[in-house]
Amino acid sequence: MPEVVTAGEALVALVPLERGRLRVGKLLEVQVGGAELNLAVALARLGVGVGYVTWLGTDELSELILERLRAEGVDTRAVRRVEGFTGVYLRRILPLGQGRVFYYRQGSAASRMGPGAFDPAYLEGARFFHLSGITPALSESCRAFSLWALAEAKARGVRVSLDLNHRRHLWEGRAARAWLEEALPSLDLLLLSEEDAEGLFGEEGAVWNLPVPEIVLKRGAKGASARVGERRLEAPAFPVEAVDPVGAGDAFSAGYLAGHLWGLSPEERLRLANALGAFVAASRGDHEEAPRKEEVLAFLRGEGGWHR
Ligand code: ATP
Repeated sequence: MPEVVTAGEALVALVPLERGRLRVGKLLEVQVGGAELNLAVALARLGVGVGYVTWLGTDELSELILERLRAEGVDTRAVRRVEGFTGVYLRRILPLGQGRVFYYRQGSAASRMGPGAFDPAYLEGARFFHLSGITPALSESCRAFSLWALAEAKARGVRVSLDLNHRRHLWEGRAARAWLEEALPSLDLLLLSEEDAEGLFGEEGAVWNLPVPEIVLKRGAKGASARVGERRLEAPAFPVEAVDPVGAGDAFSAGYLAGHLWGLSPEERLRLANALGAFVAASRGDHEEAPRKEEVLAFLRGEGGWHR
């Protein structure tokens, strides 16, 4: 049985091979992505047993996603195939590493998930169930799915982590906050970025008062802050040249969860998470350069650099 189960929407990512505006025409590489998929791949590379739950369509792109997940060693037994298509997103990478994402996902197979989308017995024995705040924003049925899945995890004594990933283009702050209110009592760990904090709460202070035992704030090139129980911690980022920061937050969250599973202290968890975020921020793609366990441990010991 997987140690971590995560559920969400898998997407095909079309990533330009060079920086610049798409309107002038760019060569695109076909990759796979989605916040929870990126996290699942990063965990699998660290040697953590991870199961991914989603609905995939019957199209060629769904086959691609399934094959990529299997090639990375992610458990796909709880993936369900239904009539429908897989969502796509187009990445644009501008000079200085700034990015933008364009989605084509409305009505996708995964957006039709609802309560009962997978057999909850699959959660039995897992140590974490991880969700992102993207899933409840996809559709009314996905909103219901997310709350049902959180309750099923709690009922089995599985710790719940949420990466807030507030997506303004999918829903308004008010709707997102209302969902969060409902989800909060189930959460053992909340991860969010500075943009999430600003977009949802207007200011950072409110974040630390949320009734969640463990809260981690990702601060991009500045690193991360956390509150574990009553303890406050700060951890600087590793200095790297940001090439393509999209996906760094997902890798960070994977590192933080792995740190829990490996019994690391909060300081060590943050350090590991910052290292994973840095590996992905310093390379093109959403998870392509997520490191293997031995690579990141060597890096943390000061052996081996970015250019592997
Ligand atoms: P995502 O685009 O995946 O949603 P996010 O907004 O959730 O990302 P960020 O705060 O941008 O998350 O980055 C997550 C983590 O990745 C940071 O906390 C840090 O550890 C690492 N990171 C991101 N950018 C850089 C950078 N320029 N240099 C070093 N580390 C970075």
